[in-house]
Amino acid sequence: MNFTEAKIRSENLRKIIERHNHSYYVDANPVISDFEYDLLVKELETIEKKFPELQTADSPTQRTGNDINNEFVQIKHKYPMLSLGNTYSESDLNDFDQRIKKVTGDDFEYVCELKFDGISISLTYINGILQQAVTRGDGEKGDDVTANIRTIRNIPLKIYGDYPAEFEIRGEIFMPHLSFARLNKERTEEGEMQFANPRNATAGTIKLQNSSQVAKRGLDCFLYSLLGENLPHANHYDNLQEAKKWGFPISQNIQKCQTIKQVIDYINYWDEARKKLPYDTDGVVIKINNTAQQEELGFTAKSPRWAIAYKFKAEQAITKLLSIDFQVGRTGAITPVANLQPVQLAGTTVKRASLHNQEQINILDIRIDDMVIVEKGGEIIPKIVGVDKSHRTGNSKEFEYITHCPECGTKLEREESEAKHFCPNENGCRPQITGKIEHFISRKAMAIDGLGIETIELLHKNNLINNVADLYDLKKEQLLPLERIADKSAENIIKSIEDSKNAEFQRVLFAIGIRFVGETTAKKIVEKLRSIDEIMMANQEELLQIDEIGERIAQSIIKYFGSQKNQEIVQRLRNAGLQMEAKKTTDKISDKFKGLNFVVSGTFASYSRDELKQIIEQHGGKNVSAVSASTAYLIAGEKSGQTKIEKADKLKVKIIDENQFNELINK
Ligand SMILES: [Zn+2]
Repeated sequence: MNFTEAKIRSENLRKIIERHNHSYYVDANPVISDFEYDLLVKELETIEKKFPELQTADSPTQRTGNDINNEFVQIKHKYPMLSLGNTYSESDLNDFDQRIKKVTGDDFEYVCELKFDGISISLTYINGILQQAVTRGDGEKGDDVTANIRTIRNIPLKIYGDYPAEFEIRGEIFMPHLSFARLNKERTEEGEMQFANPRNATAGTIKLQNSSQVAKRGLDCFLYSLLGENLPHANHYDNLQEAKKWGFPISQNIQKCQTIKQVIDYINYWDEARKKLPYDTDGVVIKINNTAQQEELGFTAKSPRWAIAYKFKAEQAITKLLSIDFQVGRTGAITPVANLQPVQLAGTTVKRASLHNQEQINILDIRIDDMVIVEKGGEIIPKIVGVDKSHRTGNSKEFEYITHCPECGTKLEREESEAKHFCPNENGCRPQITGKIEHFISRKAMAIDGLGIETIELLHKNNLINNVADLYDLKKEQLLPLERIADKSAENIIKSIEDSKNAEFQRVLFAIGIRFVGETTAKKIVEKLRSIDEIMMANQEELLQIDEIGERIAQSIIKYFGSQKNQEIVQRLRNAGLQMEAKKTTDKISDKFKGLNFVVSGTFASYSRDELKQIIEQHGGKNVSAVSASTAYLIAGEKSGQTKIEKADKLKVKIIDENQFNELINK
């Protein structure tokens, strides 16, 4: 494909993809499968990678994010982002209605909308293209999070139809329940703290420095307000319907109401119906529809007079705290769990509630036998949010947090930066042992499906397995005497363990359960360090060179391999025949760079550093880390090391940018 052909094809692809986006998100009527859609995006990506000058800011490929670290620049809002006055009561709503009538008379209309529980965002479109996305911040100025927002699938990068040349559209970014559950599951697997609720997870995600991480988190968005000059209609409702036609995600549940009574009916309906929505809502926003009347009503110092937010009451119940249990996780993290006298809450019977950590227990001063207030928000397990101290008797005592592991009796440890306590007895504490083995056999790790959690407990109880390496010493004859294991299932177990020896190296690295090394991190490590030996020998500095690896992960890797016990396990897995190095993927393309040394520094628009290095190797070149007289090229991206550039300058090493590198390959 030459440049002209690529230009025509990429323009066509963009049109086709945007059209499919529109049928998917706006018409809710997809005409092709996700797979076919992904193929189109991949094809466009390949072209843009080959001809970076063909990439545009509104290209659908921007959805996947990039590896460039964002530093959030503060931007002043053109129109301040005010917050709304809040109320929890009907009588406040009636007062609101009276205040409106005093100014506008009886001739007006309300618009009711659900209030999504997420993070507010303001998007600017110029000539139909998303230019900027800014958080609320302090209302006057917020953070420019455009790169992250571009990765949210239902926010159009380009719109269609008859839109004003420049306008702002505001709305809420949120995390649907499914994405939230998936994220927390992944974090648990990686030994990370869970997010308390979808809103916290959204806030954390929007501020991630790496937009390719944001792309994976499955955020969603609804927009609810159009601002600017030359808007198509003189009322809020019709403007939103128009914005929907341009391609914006507008909630279907917006409703016009003629009286405050209808508003209250809407609220009562949604207070129940919202429980079935796949995302969190925390109230209803009521606005005056007519734009001229909005202007007439104006603003107070803090909020508009023409709108109000009615907040749903969080569902709470009061019950007695019977006891506190302590669970020990795979990584040794201790989680306190409250046992409650069963109570009805949001349609379910609640017997347990989460307590997070010692600090939280201390802050709320939670004691055994207290009457506690339990609340159910977006989270799956309800949480204790307070204590009704009026029920306390004189002999109630402050709760003493455990100092030793409830499973193995080892003294607990707590790192400065962590809220949680840990049992350090990694290889001798039952839930840690079985938890590690469960993780090892799980589907994304070694996928040993012949084994289940119960079988692992059983094998451990019978002293047949105490660590993951013991799995590979298991014999059929050892399994047969155990209850519940028949001949056929014993055979299955041995066979699926045997089959797991073919699992590729990155799965092995994930499976051995190094804290903070999840599936993605394992993959990133293996892209760079191709064998277990290279990883074991890497020092902190070398580990930090890997994309997405920060100090905490690097230290965790070093700590893992620093343990003699872990080294033994790795050695036994190696002897058993597991894959301890990555298969060679760098198929030679040419000998163009034979005998040439390259130094890659900084970040690039269309490659990650590792991709760039792989291309160099595919063309016979060699990557070195430091500039010397024998270096042929320094490829300098954005934010590349100043000392490297100075040194290259001094040694007369050629310094090239990404485009010049592309020219070299295509020559
Ligand atoms: Zn323990």
